[in-house]
Amino acid sequence: MLIETDITGLPVLVIGPTGQTDPAVRRYRRGGAQVIAVESASGLTPVLAEWARVAVLVGAARDWGQARAALVGSVLLVEEAAPNAARGRVVLVGAGPGSAGLLTLDGLRALADADVVLTDRLAEVGDVAALAPGAEVIDVGKLPGHHAVPQTKIERIMVERALAGLTVVRLKGGDPYVFGRGGEEVAAAVDAGVPVTVIPGVSSAVGVPGAAGIPVTHRGVSHVVTILSGHVPLEDERARGLAQLGGTVVVLMGMHNLVPIAAALERSGLDPDTPAAVVERGFTPDQRSLVGTLGTLPGLVERNGAASPAVIVIGEVVRQSEVWARRAGARVLEVVG
Ligand code: SAH
Repeated sequence: MLIETDITGLPVLVIGPTGQTDPAVRRYRRGGAQVIAVESASGLTPVLAEWARVAVLVGAARDWGQARAALVGSVLLVEEAAPNAARGRVVLVGAGPGSAGLLTLDGLRALADADVVLTDRLAEVGDVAALAPGAEVIDVGKLPGHHAVPQTKIERIMVERALAGLTVVRLKGGDPYVFGRGGEEVAAAVDAGVPVTVIPGVSSAVGVPGAAGIPVTHRGVSHVVTILSGHVPLEDERARGLAQLGGTVVVLMGMHNLVPIAAALERSGLDPDTPAAVVERGFTPDQRSLVGTLGTLPGLVERNGAASPAVIVIGEVVRQSEVWARRAGARVLEVVG
């Protein structure tokens, strides 16, 4: 049974051993209550007992006769089990690229339920603290020294908090499973016996070209899309495979390797006149597109100082961006060369 009550401003005492009361404190704060946590029966002063309207007895506190005696009759008593591993879980949430509006409704709900949010540099959802009120927000995309938290440490934090009985949301840019290490994080949770779910997100691989009017497939033009990581150089053998396959090539994390990637594709027989584009910072106010050909794109990027985060798109579908550019009121597309 779910009873929804407005608890805004309600004075709530949460009583229980340190560490066990955190989820209850967050939950009531999230609902807008005024919350005071008390660690021991002796901390429960007459003033506090008088102030409270609701008292939540967590874990061992349920057996604290003294606390009960002081409260019974004057407040609503709520009993709650201490957080335990059986209740903890991990939810991987895809935040979509660039804009807060691309988070899904399920993602929004998961954030609202979170006790802990581990967020990333490219996971742009606006004010995380407002979407996950009361949750502890840990930015694992950067530390004070601006070094990213190593993957093993992210997984350790995620699993430890879930094993402590907390709901951990791991918020990731785009879709968790597209170059997002989502598979590794799911495996870490499964290995630790922690329930885990994955809420997909709009991937930049499809969404960002679309933001510049480039459909990754187009009837009669391309019915194959290959998404590749440009993090590592493209070997000739793979480039030959791509050239033979045809269709659309979408490269993520490829700005540093654009020159060797374009060269490998050309060496493998892809026509240097193949339309190609770079779409930077998709769905942000600074979105910019550079449209050229496989042959001209590296020079365009160099001259215009284009940089990561950006998606590279190679293939005839890039021509469709001209249609978009003609649309009245569409996001201005900068067609250079
Ligand atoms: N899981 C993510 C991709 C992570 S890899 C997804 O599905 O989108 C990071 C790469 O994604 C960046 O190097 C860039 O190539 C791309 N990217 C992410 N957000 C972007 C944005 N707003 N605009 C352009 N490219 C973006």
